[in-house]
Amino acid sequence: MSKNVDKIPYKIYLEESEMPKAWYNVRSDMKNKPAPLLNPGTHEPMKAEELAGVFCDELIKQELDNDTPYIPIPDDILNFYKMYRPSPLVRAYCLEEKLDTPAKIYYKFEGNNTSGSHKLNSAIAQAYYAKKQGLKGVTTETGAGQWGTALSMACAYLGLDCKVYMVKVSYEQKPFRREVMRTYGASVTPSPSMETAVGRKILAEHPGTTGSLGCAISEAVEVATSTEGYRYVLGSVLNQVLLHQSIIGLETKAALDKYGIKADMIIGCAGGGSNLGGLISPFMGEKLRGEADYRIIAVEPRSCPSFTRGRYAYDFCDTGMVCPLAKMYTLGSNFIPAPNHAGGLRYHGMSPVLSQLYADGLMEAVAVKQTDVFEAAETFARVEGILPAPESSHAIKVAIDEALKCKETGEEKTIVFGLTGTGYFDMVAYEKFHDGKMENYVPTDEELEKSFQLLPKMD
Ligand SMILES: *Cc1c(COP(=O)(O)O)cnc(C)c1O
Repeated sequence: MSKNVDKIPYKIYLEESEMPKAWYNVRSDMKNKPAPLLNPGTHEPMKAEELAGVFCDELIKQELDNDTPYIPIPDDILNFYKMYRPSPLVRAYCLEEKLDTPAKIYYKFEGNNTSGSHKLNSAIAQAYYAKKQGLKGVTTETGAGQWGTALSMACAYLGLDCKVYMVKVSYEQKPFRREVMRTYGASVTPSPSMETAVGRKILAEHPGTTGSLGCAISEAVEVATSTEGYRYVLGSVLNQVLLHQSIIGLETKAALDKYGIKADMIIGCAGGGSNLGGLISPFMGEKLRGEADYRIIAVEPRSCPSFTRGRYAYDFCDTGMVCPLAKMYTLGSNFIPAPNHAGGLRYHGMSPVLSQLYADGLMEAVAVKQTDVFEAAETFARVEGILPAPESSHAIKVAIDEALKCKETGEEKTIVFGLTGTGYFDMVAYEKFHDGKMENYVPTDEELEKSFQLLPKMD
């Protein structure tokens, strides 16, 4: 390990006492605030009272708060975090050596808990506020299953009921995910289902559909709003979720600062934008305040390219069009992506916060090919020892590409990327890759255009 002269440990851990005690709200530093959620009927900004049937009260406050920079993390949540946080920031010495690059690569590893991803950071916060409000339970959707698993764990811990609508393709591809959720006491229904009015409607229009996050959201919202003592919780996209996930970025920044390391670029995969939004938030804050500059890169699958081929427009967050309208980069709420193997990245829209930052030129985005992603995943697994989730491997792919560019130019750039989770439940996908049966589906312009035609008409 010739490069170990840096005296940076393989894993930079923070002490418990060095953990952030407040979440950081990047909206407070944005000159152009993310566009407000709109009532789908009146097209007026949603008021807290209107959201109260769907979301918990405290979470609505966080959702609508564009001004408070730091929001204290309640002690009960902080104590739960301490079971699996602070998460390590790892110096990828072995990957650097394998690539023979002068670049310095770090990754923030969020797979170190049973749910296997960063989603637990927001699940515990959302379940905590539901419990505090005296609710009986929560409903939600899950794509690949990581969010449902995280929420099941959080609800089991707090004694809340948890109803999960799981995208059908994942329900079938990942039976063990379902069993983990049931182990934590959640009920799990494949979506679209015949249990809800919106599910029956979607099935009538698209018989045989393998489902999408957009469908599952519609079902979960319908059940929450029609069941006494229940609210709906969402694992990504919303401002409140990015707020909770800022713990990732705050810890990353604290760990880098501890060793005087300055990142040049920060890379993350983007499904609904929560891990990336959380990882970049304190760095973006510095950028917005003019204190520092970073290249920030969102990575998405070519099969579901919201940033790189989507429209920046008001759209429904769900397929059933029961949710408020959000202004975001979107492929259209009618777009049902091909069943690729990164379930967590199969969402038609994108966080309104990240969408605004992208529209303002403060971050970049690239779309990558599925087989390239798995090739990068394998390279990484063989040298760094962690079996990465397919979602996370999108970030690995671009981190490797950037490190190889450094090799050409001889630049010693510091690359930080988010390793959002582990891939143990994704071995069917790895199997397809190994057997050469993995497809690289890319939607055509016509397909996207058809979906854009159905975007809500705004006046
Ligand atoms: C859900 C998920 C993602 C994508 O969701 P974001 O909200 O964009 O972060 C990425 N990686 C893993 C492991 C996930 O579970």
